[in-house]
Amino acid sequence: MTNSDEYAGDMRWGWTCPRCNADVPVHRDDDSETFRWECPVDDCPSVGFGFTSRRRARIALREYREAYRNIYR
Ligand SMILES: [Zn+2]
Repeated sequence: MTNSDEYAGDMRWGWTCPRCNADVPVHRDDDSETFRWECPVDDCPSVGFGFTSRRRARIALREYREAYRNIYR
């Protein structure tokens, strides 16, 4: 489970949804062997999937958050 690459750089757990600030967990999708993050709030559309690693999913979530801020600032 612990892979040093997964914790490289300044990546931290506990990131939150850019729309509603709910905690967004990253899951492994066993069917496609990719990682996905999905906001747990029912009426919130924030989602990302198809990432090859947990770290990439986190990077994508950060980029999503920054893009969202730029649009709605
Ligand atoms: Zn959300």
